[in-house]
Amino acid sequence: MRIVFIGPPGAGKGTQAERMIEKYNLAHLSTGDMLRAARDAQTEVGRKAEQYMSKGELVPDDIIVAIIGQRLAEPDCQKGYLLDGFPRTIAQAEALDNLLAQKSTPLDAVLELRVAEDELFRRLAGRGRADDQPDVIRQRLVAYRKQTEPLLDYYGKKKILKSINGLGTVDEIFDCVVETLAGLRA
Ligand code: ADP
Repeated sequence: MRIVFIGPPGAGKGTQAERMIEKYNLAHLSTGDMLRAARDAQTEVGRKAEQYMSKGELVPDDIIVAIIGQRLAEPDCQKGYLLDGFPRTIAQAEALDNLLAQKSTPLDAVLELRVAEDELFRRLAGRGRADDQPDVIRQRLVAYRKQTEPLLDYYGKKKILKSINGLGTVDEIFDCVVETLAGLRA
C-alpha cells in the first residue's frame, strides 16, 4: 500500500502512523522527522530548514521534494509506505504525482485526519516541542489552512481522499483507519 496521511498539526497523525506502519508493514516517511534529524545533524539542508521550522513556516518545496525523491528510491519503500507530513502544498503533490507516474506506482489512498481547530490548539500547547510555542503554533495552523487544505480538494477530485474523524480515543480512531483501508481493498 502507498498511502498519504494528511492532517493539521496536533491531529494525532504521528500516533496513528506508528500503528499503521506496524500493522501493514509500511515504511514510515515523515518529513518532519527527516527535517528534525537533518537539523540535529547540522547538515546544510538541516540548517536551512530550521530557519523555516522555527517560525512555523513550510520549508521550500524544492528542498522537500529532493529529500522525498531520494527516500522513495530506497529499497524499503518497495514494500509500501506511509507518507506522513508530505505533500503539504499543491506543488509538492504535483511533484509526487510525477515521481509516482514515472515509476507506475500510484497512491492507493489519501487519509485525512480531521480535528477542529480549538482542539488542536489545546493539544499542541500541552506538547512542548521547540515549535510548540503559541505564536509558532498559530503560524503552523495558518500554513496548514492556506497551503495544505487545498490538497483535500486536489485528492478529492482524484477520488482517493478518505476522511477520518480525529476526535476519540487512539483505539477508536485506529479502528476507523483500519476499516477505511479494508474498504479500499474490497
Ligand atoms: P506538524 O504537522 O505537527 O506541524 P511536522 O513534524 O510534520 O509537524 O512538521 C514540522 C515542521 O517541519 C513544519 O512546521 C515545517 O516547517 C516542516 N515541514 C515538514 N514537512 C514539510 C513539508 N512537506 N513541506 C514543507 N515543510 C515541511
